[in-house]
Amino acid sequence: MNPWQKHVDDIMGKVLFDQQTLQRRVQELGRQITADYQDADCDELVMIGILRGSVPFMADLIRVIDLPVTIDFMAMSSYAHGTRTSGSVRILKDINDAITDKHVLVVEDIIDTGLTLKCLTELLEARKPRSLHICTLLDKPSRRLTEIPVRYRGFEIPDEFVVGYGLDFAGHYRHLPYVGVLKPEAYA
Ligand code: 5GP
Repeated sequence: MNPWQKHVDDIMGKVLFDQQTLQRRVQELGRQITADYQDADCDELVMIGILRGSVPFMADLIRVIDLPVTIDFMAMSSYAHGTRTSGSVRILKDINDAITDKHVLVVEDIIDTGLTLKCLTELLEARKPRSLHICTLLDKPSRRLTEIPVRYRGFEIPDEFVVGYGLDFAGHYRHLPYVGVLKPEAYA
């Protein structure tokens, strides 16, 4: 057996969302986003992916949206090498283009405490976009420390640390095509 595959088999607890379930939900979100922004007469939707966790979700989502879309990326830091928030949020990379008067949709992998997105949306609001909404693949509402209006949400999940489909543990597992929970011994 491929050693990587064996490693994944050893450390992966349960799979929460398999590849097919993720793709189906992404398509539903794409249809919903398309319909909503068509209704808003949107001539350009700027989708801002939050690096690095949103990359697989963003890549799949943009391809099921039937609108004029442009993409940009931002990087924030909130987690170090662990499973809990550090509380401090820093901008590591800003978007390249101005968003004044544009329809903006922020694409995130997961909302946990909400501190990262709170900081980020305040910063983007100050640039006076025409509209600003949030789309997250996963949401852990029970962990929220600050209120965040989420317009599009893939799935609500309980307070478990998940990996895969963009989500990492110490930089790894982002490329797994499903979302799963690591066994506790994997953190040791
Ligand atoms: P927040 O500021 O909402 O507490 O944290 C958001 C960020 O924390 C996410 O973008 C993600 O990087 C990280 N995060 C929160 N929960 C999880 C989780 O269950 N698994 C992983 N891999 N990252 C998480």
